[in-house]
Amino acid sequence: MTKYVYSFKEGNRDMKNLLGGKGANLAEMTGLGLPVPSGFTVTTEACNKYYEENEKISNEIIEQIFEQLTYLEITTGKKFGDINNPLLVSVRSGARASMPGMMDTVLNLGLNDEVAESFAKTTNNKRFAYDSYRRFIQMYADVVKGYPKSSFERLLDKIKEEKGAKYDTDLTEEDMYEVALKFKEVYKGIAGEDFPEEPKKQLIEAITAVFRSWNNERANIYRKMNDIPSSWGTAVNVQEMVYGNRGNNCGTGVAFTRNPSTGENKLYGEYLINAQGEDVVAGIRTPELISTLEEVMPEVFKQFNEIASILENHYKDMQDMEFTIENGKLFMLQTRNGKRTAAAALKIAVDLVNEGKITKEEALLKVEPRQLDQLLHPNFEKESLENAKIIAKGLAASPGAGCGKIYFSAEDISLAKERNEKTILVRLETSPEDIQGMSDANGILTIRGGMTSHAAVVARGMGRCCVSGCGDLKINEELKTLTTKENQVFKEGDYISIDGTTGYVYGEEIKTVEPEITGYFSTFMSWADEVKRLKIRTNADTPKDAKTARKFGAEGIGLCRTEHMFFEEKRIFAFRQMITSETILQREKALQSILPYQKQDFEELFRAMEGYPVVIRYLDPPLHEFLPHTDEEIEELSASLNISFDSLKNRIDSLKEFNPMMGHRGCRLSITYPEIAAMQTRAVIEAAINVNKEGIKVTPEIMIPLVGDVKELIYVKSIVVNEADRIIKEANIEMEYKIGTMIEVPRAAITAEEIAKEAEFFSFGTNDLTQMTYGFSRDDASKFLNDYYDKKIFENDPFAKIDVTGVGELIKMAAQKGRSVRPNMSLGICGEHGGEPSSVEFCNMIGLDYVSCSPYRVPIARLAAAQAQIRSMENK
Ligand code: ADP
Ligand code: MG
Ligand code: MG
Repeated sequence: MTKYVYSFKEGNRDMKNLLGGKGANLAEMTGLGLPVPSGFTVTTEACNKYYEENEKISNEIIEQIFEQLTYLEITTGKKFGDINNPLLVSVRSGARASMPGMMDTVLNLGLNDEVAESFAKTTNNKRFAYDSYRRFIQMYADVVKGYPKSSFERLLDKIKEEKGAKYDTDLTEEDMYEVALKFKEVYKGIAGEDFPEEPKKQLIEAITAVFRSWNNERANIYRKMNDIPSSWGTAVNVQEMVYGNRGNNCGTGVAFTRNPSTGENKLYGEYLINAQGEDVVAGIRTPELISTLEEVMPEVFKQFNEIASILENHYKDMQDMEFTIENGKLFMLQTRNGKRTAAAALKIAVDLVNEGKITKEEALLKVEPRQLDQLLHPNFEKESLENAKIIAKGLAASPGAGCGKIYFSAEDISLAKERNEKTILVRLETSPEDIQGMSDANGILTIRGGMTSHAAVVARGMGRCCVSGCGDLKINEELKTLTTKENQVFKEGDYISIDGTTGYVYGEEIKTVEPEITGYFSTFMSWADEVKRLKIRTNADTPKDAKTARKFGAEGIGLCRTEHMFFEEKRIFAFRQMITSETILQREKALQSILPYQKQDFEELFRAMEGYPVVIRYLDPPLHEFLPHTDEEIEELSASLNISFDSLKNRIDSLKEFNPMMGHRGCRLSITYPEIAAMQTRAVIEAAINVNKEGIKVTPEIMIPLVGDVKELIYVKSIVVNEADRIIKEANIEMEYKIGTMIEVPRAAITAEEIAKEAEFFSFGTNDLTQMTYGFSRDDASKFLNDYYDKKIFENDPFAKIDVTGVGELIKMAAQKGRSVRPNMSLGICGEHGGEPSSVEFCNMIGLDYVSCSPYRVPIARLAAAQAQIRSMENK
C-alpha cells in the first residue's frame, strides 16, 4: 500500500519531491524541536493520482487523510467539529519549488455556525471567533469554490463604512458577528446552497481545491516562466491553527534572515498585531518593521532571532520565514530558502563563504544562473538621474532601473509589449492575475503594499524593478491617471521612470547606461571560472558586441555571422548590389566594395578578442531578409547597377524562394558564387595578417555553414585554401588558420566521420539543427507551439532549451564520430541554446569544449558551466 499522507513528525527536508517544499520544511522544523503547530502532509503523489483518476481523490487516500486527522486530534487534544474544544486547521498548498502567491490557503477550516458560537463562549472572545469565521467563509468561497472575492470584500468595506471603522480591527464583536452572517448569505446567494457545515466535507473539498489549483492558469504561467514541470504536482498541508487574530497580544508576520533586496546581513521583515494569514502581504493595514517587535514583545523578539539564526545555520542559506504569535507565544509556520534579487544572491553567497559557513562550490550552486540577467541590464545614467525631477517616493521593493510608458492593467501592458513599447505597470496593488503583465513590463509601481507585498515578492523573483507602496501618488484605475501631490497628472502612455534601488519615481524618461561586473559579482564570477571546464565564447557580429562580451568574460567568439555586418544602410546597399548582380563582373565589383568593410570589422573583432579564438562563419543569409522591398529602393539599386528597373525587378522575383530557410543559403551560395567565399577569405586573412603584425596572435577559424555532404565542404574549402595560402605567401609570413564547419543539417551529424576528415572543428548550430530535426520552421513554430504547451505535448520550446532526446542525441553522436577521426578537434555549440543553463549542462556532460552565446548571456553561461561541472563531480 502506498503511503499518501505523512505526519510532520515523519518527514524531513530531503523529502521535498514527495512532501513539497513547505511540507518538508515544516517536518524539518518539527524535527529540530522548533514550535510548529502539528499537522500532516498529503503527498504530491496523491495529487498526481488525483489527475490520473479524472480529478477524484481516491477512497484509499481519503481514508489515510482521516487516519492522520485522528492522530492530529489525539496530539492536540482537540476534536474536529467539537463544540467544547474544536480543532481548526489550515489547508495549505506546497509544491516542490515554491510558487509564491500561486496556490491559495484556507484558514480556520472546521468552523460552522454551531462551532463558532461555542468557540466564542469557550474562548471568551466573540470578536475573535467571528473574525475567524468570516475569514474562513470568504477563503472557502474564493479558494475552494472560485467565487469572486470582491463580493465579500465590497460587503466588508460597506459594513466598515457604516460603522465608521477604518480597519478590520476597528470592528466590534457584534460587527464581526454581523459580517460573518452576511458573508454566509452572500455565499448562499452565489452558490445556491448553504455554506457546508460538515468539517470533514470542508476538509476534503479544500484539499481537492488545492490539487485543482495546480492546473489553474496562473500556476501554468508561473511554471512555464520558471521551468517547473507540470508532472511534479503539489502537496497539501493540513495544520492545526494558531491564532494571530485573538487580540493585541497576538500577531502574524514574515521575515528574512538577511535583506532579500540588498543581501545585508540583518533580520528583515514585517508584522501586524491582531491579524491573520495574508493580512501582512495583502496590505490590509501598513505593517510594522520587524525591528519594532523588540519593544512590543521583547521575549518573542529574542526567541524569534534565535530561531532565525538556528534556521539559517541549519539550511546554510538565507531563510524566508512566516510566524504567528498567539497570546504571546511564538509559532513558526514556514521556512524556506528566501527569494532574493540577483545582487542580494551574490552578496549572500560571497558573505556565507567569508563567514566560513559554506564552500565556494556550495555558494556557486546557490545562485540561479538566469537570475544574473538582472545585473546585466542597464542602470540609470548618473548625470541624467541627478537632473531628473522626482515626483514621488515609495518603497525600494526590487532594485533596478525601469523606464517606460505607464499602463494601468496587466492586459494593456502585454498589448503594449506586442507593439514593442517599454512599459511600467501601475497598479493600486498587484494580484496573482497580473503575473503575465508584471513579466512583460519594464518595471512595476504600486500605490499600496509593503516590502513583502505581492508586487514586491514577485518582482524580486522575476528580477523586475519595483517601487511599491507609493502613497505619494493617487491612482484612478478607471480614468487611467496617476496624480502627484503637486497635482501633476500622468495619463496612460505617458513616460515615467522608477528606481527600484531607491524608491524614487520620476516623471520622465531617463537615459540608461551599460552595467559592469564589479564587487561581489566579479568575486563570484571568478570562482565560477575556477571551477568550470567548458569555455564560454560569444556570438558577436560587430566589434561592439565583441567588446561587451569580453567585459562579461567571453573567451573567444564562437560565431560571427558575417551577413549581420551588413545591416547598416550604407553597407546593405553594397550587399544588395552583390546579391542581385547578374554577371560575375558585376558581382566582383560589388564584392570589392564590400571587402574593406569586412576587413575592417574583422580586424576590430580580432583586436577586441585579444588573442582568443575567433570563429568566422561565411555568408549565410536567407536571401529574402536582404532583398530590397520598395520601388524606390529598387530604382536606386538598378541605377547603380546600370540595369533597368524591370530587369532588376525580375531578378529579385527570381531570387524569391518558397522556403527560404531551406533555400539558397549557407555553403550553397558559395558553390554557386565561389567569388563570395574568395572575397571573405581575403578579408579574414588580410585582417588577421594586419592584426598579427600588431603583436596580437590571431588564428582565424573559418566556418562553412549548412554543410550536409562532405563534398560541399571539399568544394568550398578548396576555394578558401587557395585564396588564403596565396595571400599568406604573398605577405611572406607564417600564419595558421583553421577551416571547420557547422553541424546543423541532420545529414551532417549522421556523416560526421566523413566530414571530420575535412573539417578541423565542428560547431553545432542548434537553431537550424532543431529546425531541421523536428521539421519545424524557426520563423513559424511559435504560431503553433502554444497549442503544444496547452496540450502538454511539449513542456518547453525546443528552440530555447535543447531537446536532449532528439537533437541532443544527434549532437552527441556527431561529437563522438568527429573525435573518432580527429581526436583533438574542437567542438562547441553556437545556437541560442548556448546561454540556456540546462543546455549548457548537457554540453558539459557530453564533453564539448565550449558553448557560444550572445554577449549578455555570457555570465549566465559561465555560472551554468560551473554548476554543471560541480554537479557532475558530485555524481561521480
Ligand atoms: P503561501 O504559500 O501563500 O505563503 P501559506 O500556506 O504559507 O501560503 O499560508 C499563508 C499564511 O497563512 C501563513 O503565512 C500564515 O500566516 C497563515 N497560516 C497558514 N497556516 C496557519 C496555521 N496553521 N495557523 C495560523 N496561520 C496559518
Ligand atoms: Mg498564499
Ligand atoms: Mg507561506
